[in-house]
Amino acid sequence: MTVNQPITAHFDPRVLLDQAHQARERAYAPYSHYKVGAALLGRSGRIYTGCNVENAVYPLSTCAERTAVVKAVSEGEREFVAIAVVTENGGTPCGACRQTLREFAEDLVILIGDATGHYRQTTLRQLLPESFSAADLAPVFPEPPCPIRHL
Ligand SMILES: [Zn+2]
Repeated sequence: MTVNQPITAHFDPRVLLDQAHQARERAYAPYSHYKVGAALLGRSGRIYTGCNVENAVYPLSTCAERTAVVKAVSEGEREFVAIAVVTENGGTPCGACRQTLREFAEDLVILIGDATGHYRQTTLRQLLPESFSAADLAPVFPEPPCPIRHL
């Protein structure tokens, strides 16, 4: 796989899982000790990795999946094909991460891996059925709600 070849549904899951395993090694998880690595495959072919980054103020902690999404979007990528997530025991993405991924992908292949190298494949649609998205806002705000928009 090269960076400049746009891809669709065909990718090597081992590459994505390997990147997620490597990202997991960089996790900053001194409080939970639950290290997570993620590797997000953009439609451009680029892979964006992420790890969880915890904070002494617990709510400020960031998940690996959201780290990867923020990195990708901040670098101009908004369409995604798949994400690999690796934890010690094959835990699935939390609800916040599922919704964050949904913002940029109606459906997405999700590879759930564990520290031993085993993995299973699912989809965002399976993990977040009947999801809320920008399309749900359209009937509520058919036009910009701010009356000073013409100024
Ligand atoms: Zn999460």
